[in-house]
Amino acid sequence: MTSVYMDQISWVEYQQRVNDGTVVFLPCGATEQHGPHLPLGTDALLSTAISADVAGRLGGIVAPALAYGYKSQPKCGGGQHFCGTTSLDGGTLTALVQDAVREFARHGVKRLVLVLGHYENQWFVAEGIQLALRELGPSCDLRVMRLEHWDFCQETTLTDIFPDGFPGFALEHAAVIETSLMLHYHPNLVSLERIPNDPPADFPPYDIYPSRTEWVPPSGVLSSAKGSDAEKGRRLASDIVGGIASAVATEFGLES
Ligand code: ZN
Ligand code: MN
Repeated sequence: MTSVYMDQISWVEYQQRVNDGTVVFLPCGATEQHGPHLPLGTDALLSTAISADVAGRLGGIVAPALAYGYKSQPKCGGGQHFCGTTSLDGGTLTALVQDAVREFARHGVKRLVLVLGHYENQWFVAEGIQLALRELGPSCDLRVMRLEHWDFCQETTLTDIFPDGFPGFALEHAAVIETSLMLHYHPNLVSLERIPNDPPADFPPYDIYPSRTEWVPPSGVLSSAKGSDAEKGRRLASDIVGGIASAVATEFGLES
């Protein structure tokens, strides 16, 4: 196998591997602020790196990531008021996913996994998959799995990493999980010395439009990233990659 990355192999090799029944992984990220210490591409970088590890275990292929996502929301991504955050309307993301799924079906792909790294994407991605399958009709034998990678973190790992209590995945934006995973996969893109001292965000149980930007810490980090390290990242990655590989193997009848 020359590469797990679709954009690094020829169409001829891609076709061969699709004909052999390979699983294709489509990472779905965002271009979104992740505080002063992480890059704007964090969500796509992590979903791509995780997809590549899983694909390496299962003989799969990783398609180029969808690098733009649905609009950043104040309570889980900081919101749309940050410079650099570059988002799609929900209908655009849905159409993008629908087009991509239809193309993979045309290639003959039978097993497709959408690996989401951006919280706000989930129902627009689900809609794109469902519209594509409806359009392809009941004779199409493409099967699609959709997942958010953080859901594979094990309870014991979260308890060890957050001895004072886990703040929840929504507030984990640019915090310990994403920062530790970036230290594991892309340490040269993390500026640990720039982790801010903001207290965790405290949101009311409702939203207001236009957004109350004053609810969001000015750094864009929703709970502290202090305590992030590469070892935590390695443990989280091991949970996530192992969990996704076994779910894909089970659902799609492969050996992992
Ligand atoms: Zn993120
Ligand atoms: Mn995000």
